[in-house]
Amino acid sequence: MIEALDPRFKVNGDETPERLYQGCRWAEGPVYFPAHRSLVWSDIPNDRMLRWDEVTGAVGPFRQPAGYTNGNTLDAQGRLVSCQHGERRVIRTEHDGSTTVIADRYQGKRFNSPNDVVVRSDGSIWFTDPSYGIDSDYEGHRAAGEIGGCHVYRVDPAGGEVRMVADDFVRPNGLAFSLDEQRLYIADTRANHIRVFKVTGDSLAEEGVFAECTVGVFDGIRLDDAGRVWAAAGDGVHCHDSDGTLIGKIHFPEIVSNLAFGGPKRNRLFVTATSSVYSLLLTVNGAPPVYGRR
Ligand code: MG
Repeated sequence: MIEALDPRFKVNGDETPERLYQGCRWAEGPVYFPAHRSLVWSDIPNDRMLRWDEVTGAVGPFRQPAGYTNGNTLDAQGRLVSCQHGERRVIRTEHDGSTTVIADRYQGKRFNSPNDVVVRSDGSIWFTDPSYGIDSDYEGHRAAGEIGGCHVYRVDPAGGEVRMVADDFVRPNGLAFSLDEQRLYIADTRANHIRVFKVTGDSLAEEGVFAECTVGVFDGIRLDDAGRVWAAAGDGVHCHDSDGTLIGKIHFPEIVSNLAFGGPKRNRLFVTATSSVYSLLLTVNGAPPVYGRR
C-alpha cells in the first residue's frame, strides 16, 4: 500500500506488491543488472545469493556458498561489488566471473563484517562495517572483533588504500550518495537515524542527522532521481524529501531490509523483506546509477 504523508509525495503505481520469491531467511542486498535484466540478492543466513530473471520470472541460485554475502552494488563498469560477512571483506566479481578482493583489513586488522557498499563515479568504494556477521553464527561466523568498533571506510580507486572515514557510528549500515555525489547519507541502525556528510576529497564532514526512523529500524537506503532518500524500515520503505521530512511510505507485509530501483526505466522498486523479494511498478524513477554517468 502506498501512503502519502505530505503533499510533496506524489507517487502512484501498483497498490499491491508482487512477491517475486519467498523462501529466504533474511533477504538483503538487491542489485539490478540492466544488461541481462535480472535482480540478484543475498539470503544471508542460508549463505547463498539468488537471481530473478525479469524476462521469464524464474528464480535460481546465483552463488552458493556465498561467503554470507550481504550488500551488493554495481561499479562504473557494471561489475558486481559485494560485502561478505563470512569472509569479512569486500569483493568484486569481474566480467570473466573471477573475484577480486577489494578490502579485507584496515591497518592489518580484519574487518567485522562489511554490510553495505556504494561506488562513487571517481571509482572510490565506500562501505560500512557493523558486527552483525561476527556477533553469532546466524549470518556469518562468530568471532571477536579486531578493530574494536563499527566504522565506515573508503577504498581509494588508485592504490586500493583503505581509509576510515567515520568512527562514531554504533551500527553503520545502508549508505547512498546524493545525486551530485557531494553528500553521503549513512544509516546507523542502532542509533536509528540517517546522518548526512559532505564529501571533501577522500574524507567526510558531518552535517548532522538527516532523518529519524519512526517504525522499526533503518537499514538499506537508495535515492530516486529527484534526490529523495528511500529507506528500509520496520513497516516498509520510508521516503524522505531532501530536507529530511518523511513524506510517504510504501507498506510491505514483512520487515524490509533493503531496496533497489530497477527495470529498464528504473521505475520498478525491488524490496528485500525478511523471507521475500517484492516489486512494484511506480511513477518514480531511481537515481541514475554510477555506470550510467560516464
Ligand atoms: Mg544492511
